[in-house]
Amino acid sequence: MSQINVTVWNENVHERHSQHIRDIYPTGIHGCIQSFLQADPSLNVTAVSLDMPDQGLPDSLINQTDVLIWWGHMAHQEVSDQLVDKLFHRVQNGMGLIALHSAHASKLFSKLLGTESWQMTWRESEDRCLCWVTEPNHPITRGLGRYIDLPAEEMYSEPLFFPRPDELLFINWYSSGEVMRSGMIFNRGNGKVFYFQPGHESYPTYHNPDVQRVITQAVHYVYQGMLPQAALTCPKPPIQKEL
Ligand code: ZN
Repeated sequence: MSQINVTVWNENVHERHSQHIRDIYPTGIHGCIQSFLQADPSLNVTAVSLDMPDQGLPDSLINQTDVLIWWGHMAHQEVSDQLVDKLFHRVQNGMGLIALHSAHASKLFSKLLGTESWQMTWRESEDRCLCWVTEPNHPITRGLGRYIDLPAEEMYSEPLFFPRPDELLFINWYSSGEVMRSGMIFNRGNGKVFYFQPGHESYPTYHNPDVQRVITQAVHYVYQGMLPQAALTCPKPPIQKEL
């Protein structure tokens, strides 16, 4: 059986500096995501981090990745522009991207959206978050209830400096009263980008079965396989105009 090659990238900074975060994610956030994705036999999952050679993403791994999952929070500026350019072009050529939580402020996500997507209101708090499903029969939301109930999550709020998404799948409501469009698809070139807000490092969000379901189903949705080379070249037009 051919598998979808998934690469989970994490800046892995909080986990190294905080015992509290390590207690929640002993193998790192990337290790946790790799672990639940591996329950799906159709996925071949690699977990990497910023502190590895080539910032975790050598060309050999980039070129075989079908779907990239990105978690970053405080080290966005440490990611090299050269790496961001490579990943940007891989998305344009069909690689799926799942941008989690504060990946909205990453260089890669901002470049793909073409805006200062990092701008929003936020508050680190103990607010309860209900992540409401807006399209219950979508391949990413199938099997969920009306909302995902997260006892605590970092608050992000509208207005977002995002372009209008191609698909809107989730809206967060917080017990503090704020709301946010929190799960969206953006089509970029030949690639699909899924942004999903839940996942602040100090809460056990990625242990939540509904969140795991969303991320697993999103991998399948943004996966497009390798485009045939002919789709990436610019052939002569079939009809030559005679002068
Ligand atoms: Zn956060």
